[in-house]
Amino acid sequence: MSTASPTPNEQPGHFLQFASDNTSGICPEAMQALVAADVGFAASYGNDHATQQACDRIRELFEADAEVFFVFNGTAANSIALASLCQSYQAVICSDTAHVETDECGAPEFFSNGSKLLSAPHRQGKLTSAGVLEVITRRTDVHYPRPKVVTLTQSTEMGTLYQKGEISGISRVAQEHGLKVHMDGARFANAVAALGVAPADITWRAGVDVLCFGGTKMGLPIGEAIVFFDRRLGEEFAYRCKQAGQLASKMRYLSAPWLAMLTDGVWLRHAGHANAMAHRLSEKVAAIAGAELLLPTEANGVFVNLPEAALTRLKAMGWTFYTFIGGGARFMCSWATTEAAVDHLVRDMDRALGG
Ligand SMILES: *Cc1c(COP(=O)(O)O)cnc(C)c1O
Repeated sequence: MSTASPTPNEQPGHFLQFASDNTSGICPEAMQALVAADVGFAASYGNDHATQQACDRIRELFEADAEVFFVFNGTAANSIALASLCQSYQAVICSDTAHVETDECGAPEFFSNGSKLLSAPHRQGKLTSAGVLEVITRRTDVHYPRPKVVTLTQSTEMGTLYQKGEISGISRVAQEHGLKVHMDGARFANAVAALGVAPADITWRAGVDVLCFGGTKMGLPIGEAIVFFDRRLGEEFAYRCKQAGQLASKMRYLSAPWLAMLTDGVWLRHAGHANAMAHRLSEKVAAIAGAELLLPTEANGVFVNLPEAALTRLKAMGWTFYTFIGGGARFMCSWATTEAAVDHLVRDMDRALGG
């Protein structure tokens, strides 16, 4: 068996395209905005024009008078948002596949001074109302932490989507028991593009109190936006950002790309492209003998079951992908994923299987 080598016209990092959507670069619109923001002097710590405009744009997009904060990454966004919603003796209910549980090195617990994460079983990466209710009502004695927040990831770590009704169902259970609802939206753009809904419909109108809106994976150089739909919840949040080292002094470089991204539907075009590449990959994988799709492809991730030997061969050919998330091999697509790369991967996957 020969090993594939990249054709000369392929870009550097070609084989890295499927490891994660954060291996992509900066999309042209964000890059242009970043460069354009670099003119003269601007007020620091978010008191600049670009940041004000970006916050207004987010409020417009969500049709809500929300409180908005820009921070450096998703782990920080989730951690300090969750910390703002509960006391240290209270708990956060999450899916046992949630990024906050498996991939944040205890940061939510650290920033909340010890609020415990209570994981609930998932169905294809999604929490269920019944699962959440079971955790809420499990114990009421002082020896067990008191559930105060439910966090759900949209789109999920397993590449699936919560439908509007599923979110409002979970929110209803949460509200009835005095819990707040947080959404990890590291891939929120992919969800909105795939569901074709108004952002408000799968957030505050469905009972979500706080959204961590992911920027990095959708094509920004850096940064996420924390959106408090209930302004009272975000009242003292600026202090928490600062204390956590998440207040950028040259905020314009975080916010200006956001503004460009959320203008003329750029974010949805890029997210829609990522989703389309995942669907292309998924359809082709389904046709390969020996490869098995593990999960439905609903957003920008494709999860494939391959024999160990084929995984090894595929890696030896240079392809990078994760095997520790969602089971099987995970292939993520981004705004920058090309059809040529998808087709190349599929050919090599077939060859790795001896086809
Ligand atoms: C990528 C990701 C994050 C954010 O991760 P950072 O590397 O800290 O920016 C959060 N949640 C989910 C589900 C993610 O996939």
